[in-house]
Amino acid sequence: MSRYSRQELFAGIGPDGQRRLGASRVLVVGCGALGSALAETMVRAGVGAVTVVDRDFVEASNLQRQSLFEEEDARQGLPKAVAAEARLRRLNSEVEVRGLVADLSAENAAALVRGADLVLDGSDSFETRYLLNDVSVRASVPWVYGACVGAYGLALAVRPGLTPCLRCVMGDRPDAGSAPTCDTAGVVAPIVQVIAGVQGAEALKLLAGRAEALLGGLLTVDLWAGTFEVADLRGVAPSCPACTAGRFDYAAAAAGASAVLCGRDAVQLRAAPGTRVDLPALAARLRAVGEVVANDHLVRLRANGADLVVFGDGRAIVKGVRDAAQARSVYARYVGS
Ligand SMILES: [Zn+2]
Repeated sequence: MSRYSRQELFAGIGPDGQRRLGASRVLVVGCGALGSALAETMVRAGVGAVTVVDRDFVEASNLQRQSLFEEEDARQGLPKAVAAEARLRRLNSEVEVRGLVADLSAENAAALVRGADLVLDGSDSFETRYLLNDVSVRASVPWVYGACVGAYGLALAVRPGLTPCLRCVMGDRPDAGSAPTCDTAGVVAPIVQVIAGVQGAEALKLLAGRAEALLGGLLTVDLWAGTFEVADLRGVAPSCPACTAGRFDYAAAAAGASAVLCGRDAVQLRAAPGTRVDLPALAARLRAVGEVVANDHLVRLRANGADLVVFGDGRAIVKGVRDAAQARSVYARYVGS
């Protein structure tokens, strides 16, 4: 019996579907709660290659719902992509697993998406999702949107050119800070499992060549109110500027953005391409200033109310600030400009 025998016995996949899974490449964008569950599902299912891209590092407050991570990962402050890669390799050594410590940006998104047969959304911001939507539609790579906050969640499979995309369904991108996030409204693990389960099932259908079995539209679930609904989009043609006119406004706007909000009171700063930071030297210097956590991938400093993380490529996440200017000032004070 093969390790995938239960999937091969299932009529919706079968031996032929399993062969297709094994020949597929999947990109998981974001490795928080949804991304953890999605990457684990794909790796256990025997997808040929799984790449996980994530910009953040593991913290204790992640452990309640981000199933790939353990207390030791938080203690070491490991990048999520690094911790996830190690765990995923232990789950299935047959899968080509790659963890990429990076922010999905206009600069790297096109190559990452083009190298995949399917993209799964485990991100946590409209900025990333609308960029991902533009890039996937442009490259004609299917992707599965998913989002959770509180006990509420949504999921939608997008087949570019064939079904409505995220922008077709939701309109223009909401302004940053206009919608509740897990940082402001919290989140419970069961909604993550439900939404990641639906995204994972849509992914298996697409990869196994069973697109006819996809949900008919946008799923919304509220586990506290007890509602499960699918807005029927069958027969609805793609209608947004990206789908009909090839206008990829969000990919264009994201190019060159040097600072982005990520979560509440946090700003990510990007460094110029090619930047390298001497992390051991930086850690040694900052130890005189405050509490430092350092590993092969990043240096984190907490001092005087500042919480700053610097990655080897110069990218930084500054927490406890309200805007990019304040974030740049913290970065300049401790790292240099
Ligand atoms: Zn569209």
